[in-house]
Amino acid sequence: MTATSTNELLSFAEARQIVERHAAALTPTEPELTGLLDALGLVLAEDLLADRDFPPFPRATRDGYAVRAADVKLVPTQLHCLGTIKAGAMVEESSIPVGPGETVEIMTGAPVPAGADAVLMVEYSEAADANIKVKRSVEAGENVVPAGAEARRGNVMVQRGTRVQHAMVAVAAAVGRPEIAVRRRPKVAVLATGDELVDINLPPGPNEIRNSNSYSLAAQVYEAGGDAVILPVARDDAAELALLLRKGLDANLLLLSGGVSAGKYDLVEEVLASLGAKFFFTGVAIQPGKPVVFGEVALEGRTTPFFGLPGNPVSTMVTFQLFVRPVLDALAGAKPERLLFTQAALKAPLTTKTGLTRFLPAKLDGVHDKPGVELVRWQGSGDLMAASRANCYIVVPPDRERFEAGEVVTVLLS
Ligand code: AMP
Ligand code: MG
Repeated sequence: MTATSTNELLSFAEARQIVERHAAALTPTEPELTGLLDALGLVLAEDLLADRDFPPFPRATRDGYAVRAADVKLVPTQLHCLGTIKAGAMVEESSIPVGPGETVEIMTGAPVPAGADAVLMVEYSEAADANIKVKRSVEAGENVVPAGAEARRGNVMVQRGTRVQHAMVAVAAAVGRPEIAVRRRPKVAVLATGDELVDINLPPGPNEIRNSNSYSLAAQVYEAGGDAVILPVARDDAAELALLLRKGLDANLLLLSGGVSAGKYDLVEEVLASLGAKFFFTGVAIQPGKPVVFGEVALEGRTTPFFGLPGNPVSTMVTFQLFVRPVLDALAGAKPERLLFTQAALKAPLTTKTGLTRFLPAKLDGVHDKPGVELVRWQGSGDLMAASRANCYIVVPPDRERFEAGEVVTVLLS
């Protein structure tokens, strides 16, 4: 397989579609029962069901007085207070029935007693012992969530395939699940290539650089619910690369970094091809990340998808987000997730060249209703510091070369 020339390059959208199509055909990892907090970031392998009605009783959403709306149509008026119901009230207290002309003092989260159909906020009342002056009328249902309004017992509260984040942890806790079934973290082999690389535990020689990509990739893998296995750095040597590649193919997914450009020592594609790799694409019309490679290798009865990511650290990070993420999501059992784009006004003009879709490291911030975005200063796609200052990418379509300050641009959150 030789390097593809620019005219044959796939567009970003075409390449992404290819990835999504292959991702959809992958088999997810096995489910396992996991402690609720350890499940954070992983993918639900079961539906979370309501074990009772939510809320289980008509719930007051304000501190005040449980009333019959019909009694307070004309205000001001007086009601007779029978007592107080606080959150967690005993069943006997909450079953005081409220008759005509009566009320019960009630606290947020407490069960609204029979007979009452609304809660008057305490601010609109004046209490003199058991005589409550009502200064405002309320509609039936006001400040009350009926029993079962959020979910009925047995309803699906969170669907399988959802990635567990803090709100789902709350749901699982609310339905009494200290353990939930999630998919195991897919194993992702990470293989950095390059003669210039040294491991981070060793002092680099004057012309050497530390292998940072294996670590940024492992971090991205972990954030995406995978488990990275960092392989030793492969020299730019076909035999050594082949040996380590075969090791990496034991994983659910293999990520290589470096060695996919058109240079003389860029051996990744050649060595993959010698192992019988099928390539789905070799290069995409994007920047950074143009040489990115996607394919699969079938060896010894198992097929392993792989990505050859360009070695420039920013390229490695962007191409992970753009292309690796859907494959990892699928292996982790997640429903396909879209890339999260938003729009924001440029804080300063921007000039690029046409021909490639660009994902330029940028900083999105702004006050309240005025989000603004600007490029971070960078020295090109090798600039790690730029990546660490950025929180998004400005997406420049291939036909645009200039944007003015104030123009609204598309932003990919990172
Ligand atoms: P390559 O894609 O192999 O042509 O590498 C492109 C650039 O990225 C070169 O400047 C490499 O030194 C750098 N690079 C490649 N691999 C890594 C790595 N694992 N960690 C940090 N930088 C790397
Ligand atoms: Mg290299």
